[in-house]
Amino acid sequence: LIEVKKLRKSFGKLDVLHEIDLAVEKGEVIAIIGPSGSGKSTFLRCLNGLETPTAGSIKIGTHTLKFNGKKPKDKEIRSLRSQTSMVFQSFNLFPHLTALQNVMEGLVTVQGMSKEAASIQVKGLLEKVGLSQKKDAFPIQLSGGQQQRVAIARALAMNPSVLLLDEPTSALDPELVGGVLAIIRELTKDKTQTMMIVTHEMNFARDVADRVIFMDDGKIIETGTPDEVFGHPTHARTKQFLDQLY
Ligand code: ATP
Ligand code: MG
Repeated sequence: LIEVKKLRKSFGKLDVLHEIDLAVEKGEVIAIIGPSGSGKSTFLRCLNGLETPTAGSIKIGTHTLKFNGKKPKDKEIRSLRSQTSMVFQSFNLFPHLTALQNVMEGLVTVQGMSKEAASIQVKGLLEKVGLSQKKDAFPIQLSGGQQQRVAIARALAMNPSVLLLDEPTSALDPELVGGVLAIIRELTKDKTQTMMIVTHEMNFARDVADRVIFMDDGKIIETGTPDEVFGHPTHARTKQFLDQLY
């Protein structure tokens, strides 16, 4: 489904991603782990078109984007955006819209769906994330965990080929983390939604991921099943990273 080749990203003189190569199958759940500043967020942001890579290519579905230092066409960026939905650490909900309206927003404004049709679809999604009761609440009236569940429903509403989650529980109070992880775990069960999750929750990664990727210094150092990466890491850097967590 996804094929990333020799992807590079620099901010000025700072090389943040060095020749990332990665292929992801449809339905795969990938957990991305690694130290702070290793380029995990930048990688997801490149996949979502929020950052423009410096070189390399990204293929999602049948569409390939090649980067050569020039600004890509808006149409190309839109095509990337239409296939990826991102969930951020900080929820990023529209404060002036209710939960229901937040989830509907993209369907109505981007996909041009009627409000009636969108609201029917969205009610099902809010149910899926356990928030039917809160559909008319504004973000400020919701806990962090509830806001993040709205953000997940909003991302799913766009029916993305791949759902990108960047540390979806890092901003939450400890007692709210479990609820959000449970929703994400539920989404991974039917093995249809391709997902890439940056997370510091190693037990969760071990549990839900088909494949774990360890990134350090803008490179993929190691990739394998959770058992391989957590149980028998082959690179010294991976071992060192995991050791300091426990
Ligand atoms: P964390 O675990 O702390 O979220 P990360 O692995 O997600 O870290 P990134 O946010 O991708 O790391 O950042 C990688 C590097 O790129 C860092 O050195 C960061 O300072 C730099 N960087 C990220 N965004 C920008 C930007 N817009 N301009 C300049 N440098 C940036
Ligand atoms: Mg990050």
